[in-house]
Amino acid sequence: MNHQEEFLSNLETMKASSAVIKKRDLWYPTRPQDALLTQYHTVVQGLFLRHVIVETEDLADLAIKMYLKGGIQNHDDTHITTKGPIISDPFTSLAKDLSACHLTKDEGGKVGWIMNPYYNPLLEQRDSKISTTRSMATLSIHSNEAVHSTISEQGIEKLFQQEPKGGDVLKIQVGTNHSRWHICRIDDLLLDYNPRFVSSMDSRPSTNGLGTTLKVPNLMLNQERSTMNEDSSSDHNNNRHAQFYQIITHGCQMNMADSERLEGVLQNQLNLQPVSSSSSNPDLSLLSTSSSSSTTSSVPDVVILNTCSIRDHAEQKVYSALGPYALRKRRGESIAIVVAGCVAQQEGENLLKRVPEVDLVMGPQYVNRLGDLLQDVSRGHQIVATDPTLLSEQDLSRPIRGHKVRAWVNIIHGCNEHCTYCVVPGTRGVEQSRSMEHLLKECLDLASSGYKEITLLGQNIDAYGRDMTPKRTFADLLNYLNENIPSGTIERIRYVTSHPRYFSDRVIDAVASLDKVCECFHMPFQSGDDEILRKMRRGYSFDSYMKIIQKIRDRAPDASISGDVIVGFPGETEGAFQRTLDLMNAVRFDSVNTYTYSPRPNTEAALWENQIPEHIKDERLQIVKRLSTDHALERSKKTLGQVFQVLVEDRNPKNLAQVMGRTRQNRLVFFDGNIEDYLGKLVDVKITEARPWSLSGILIP
Ligand code: SF4
Repeated sequence: MNHQEEFLSNLETMKASSAVIKKRDLWYPTRPQDALLTQYHTVVQGLFLRHVIVETEDLADLAIKMYLKGGIQNHDDTHITTKGPIISDPFTSLAKDLSACHLTKDEGGKVGWIMNPYYNPLLEQRDSKISTTRSMATLSIHSNEAVHSTISEQGIEKLFQQEPKGGDVLKIQVGTNHSRWHICRIDDLLLDYNPRFVSSMDSRPSTNGLGTTLKVPNLMLNQERSTMNEDSSSDHNNNRHAQFYQIITHGCQMNMADSERLEGVLQNQLNLQPVSSSSSNPDLSLLSTSSSSSTTSSVPDVVILNTCSIRDHAEQKVYSALGPYALRKRRGESIAIVVAGCVAQQEGENLLKRVPEVDLVMGPQYVNRLGDLLQDVSRGHQIVATDPTLLSEQDLSRPIRGHKVRAWVNIIHGCNEHCTYCVVPGTRGVEQSRSMEHLLKECLDLASSGYKEITLLGQNIDAYGRDMTPKRTFADLLNYLNENIPSGTIERIRYVTSHPRYFSDRVIDAVASLDKVCECFHMPFQSGDDEILRKMRRGYSFDSYMKIIQKIRDRAPDASISGDVIVGFPGETEGAFQRTLDLMNAVRFDSVNTYTYSPRPNTEAALWENQIPEHIKDERLQIVKRLSTDHALERSKKTLGQVFQVLVEDRNPKNLAQVMGRTRQNRLVFFDGNIEDYLGKLVDVKITEARPWSLSGILIP
C-alpha cells in the first residue's frame, strides 16, 4: 500500500466509525516508539545509560523532581563551560549527592552503552552483504563491564521493556530482598540501520538505451578507509582521487538545517568536497553558481536534491531537475543521485520507478545516516530509506554551517498536529524532541566556535518535550539554555515556529525576562475565521488568538509579532476572508508570510470539493500582501529616532560600503561600515530611515 492509499484507507476507517475529529481523537501514534513499522526490539540495539541508585521509591520521585528543576547546584564542578564536553549537568549533581552506586557516582552516574537483550535484527530479511551492526563497529562502542554489572541483567531487561527513547528519565526497581531504585537517564540510542534495498548490483538494470552501464562512484566512510589502510601495505588514501558533492536545497529553514547536516556527513564522514556550484537554490535550477569551495571541480560524484513539497507541482519540479543528472548517468558517467527531503518521503519508491537512475531516496529522518546509505549505494544498491525511525545523537559528523554568526539548532523533529492542509506530519514523522543536555552541548560548541545567535527550530516548537518521559516544556528549555550558556558567548536565542494552540504564558514570561531570548514572536494565524480554523484543525479561534496577542503586548510591549496566513483555503467565503483581514487589522503585524492554499498530496483538504478558484486566491493574496506591507511600514516608522542594538551579520549585498544586521526584534538594519570591522559584533544604531521590511541608521559610537 503506498502512502496515498494508506492515507485514504485510514481516513475511510475514521469516517466509517463516524469519528468526529477532535484534538486527541486521531488515528496516528504520538509516541515515536509506536510509529515504528517494525518492533522497537528489532530497531534499538542499545542505549547509553546514566543512573542514580536510591533506597526508596519516594527518594527516587524526589530525585527526579530535583533533576527536572535543575539538580542540586552546590558543587563547584556543576558549572558548565564552553570548552570540551559538558563536564556536568543536573544529573551529575544528583549522582554525586544521592547515588548509592560507588562505581558511577563520581562519573555523573555514567554506566555507558548497554545492549538490548531483546534485540532481534531479523537477519534473514537482510541483504547478506550488509552489516546490521556496522554502527557498533564504526563507533567502537565498548561497554564497561564492571559498571554494567551495577544495574544487573534484571534491571536491563526492565529498562528495555519500557521502550525508552533518548532523553527519557525512568525509574526502575532492581533486586528482590534489598531492592533499590535506579533512576535511569537515556542519553542516546544505538539504532539498527534499516533501509529498503530495492535492487542490488545483480538485479539493477546494468544497461540502458545508450548501451552503457549505470555507474556509481566508490564511496567509503573514513573509518573503513583507515581500516583498509591499516590492513593494506598500499596507501589507499593517497591513491584516491578527490571526490565532490553538490547539494541543491529547496524549502524552509528545516531543510536548510538538514542540508547543513548532510554536508557535515559528506565532508566529515566521506571526505568529499563541495563542487564549485554547490548551492541553495529555491528554483531547483541545477545550473546555479555560488560557491563555498576552494576546489576547482564543477562535476559532482554525489548530487543531492533536498526537496520541499509545500508548494504546488513540487514533485514535477523535482522530476525535471533530475533530468540532466539522469542523462549523465545514462551516458556512462559515474554519479550517485540522491533525492532527500519531503518529496522523497512522499514519493518513496515511485521516484525510482519514474527515474531509475536515482540511487537513493531518503526521508528527513535519515539525514544522519547518509554516510551508511551512500556506502551501500556505492556497492550497487538502490535504496529507499523512508520508514519511520527513531533519532539518535550518535552522529560523527558536525553540520557544515552556512553562516558564521548565526546558526540553527533543531530541538524537535516532526509534528503530531495533522493540520488538514499540511504535508509535514506525513513527511517528517511524529514529534521527537532532543534532550536538553544534548541541545546545551550543541549550543556550547557553537559558542566556542564564535557564534553569537542561535535559532531553535521545530515545526511546532511549543510541542517540545511532550514526547519525553517525564514531560518537559519549551519554556523549561529556554530557561535552561539561557541560564547555562555563558555570558559574552551566544548573545541571542530565537525560535520558530510557535503554535497558538499550545503557546503558553510561560514562554511569554521567558521572552520578557530572559536576557538572551529575543523579543520576537512568530505566531502563524493562517485565518481569522473560526469555521476555517476548525476545518484546518488548528485548535484556536479568532478570540483565543487575540488573547495571546494581548498577553504579549502586556508582558513584552516592545516585542515584534509576525505571522503566517493562507488565503483561499477550501470553503473560504468572502465573509471568512474579511475576518482574516479583521484579525490582521486588530494585530497590526510587523510582518506576515502570505500564502495561497495549494492542495498537497496525502492531505485531507486536498480531497475536498469546495476548492477556491485560482483567480480568487490570487486576488485575496494581493489584498493581504498590501495590508501586511501597510502594517509593516507603520510598525517600522515607530522605530525612527530610536537606538537599537544590532548584531552585524553580513555586507549589504546592494551596497558594499554598508553592513547589515538585525535588532533583537528581528528587524533588518543597514548602516555604513566595513564588514571586517563589524561582523559578529553588537553595535548601537540610531534609526534614520524606515521602510516596510528594513531600516537604515547611523552607528552610535
Ligand atoms: S502544526 Fe505546522 S507543521 Fe504541524 S501539521 Fe500544522 S501546519 Fe503542519
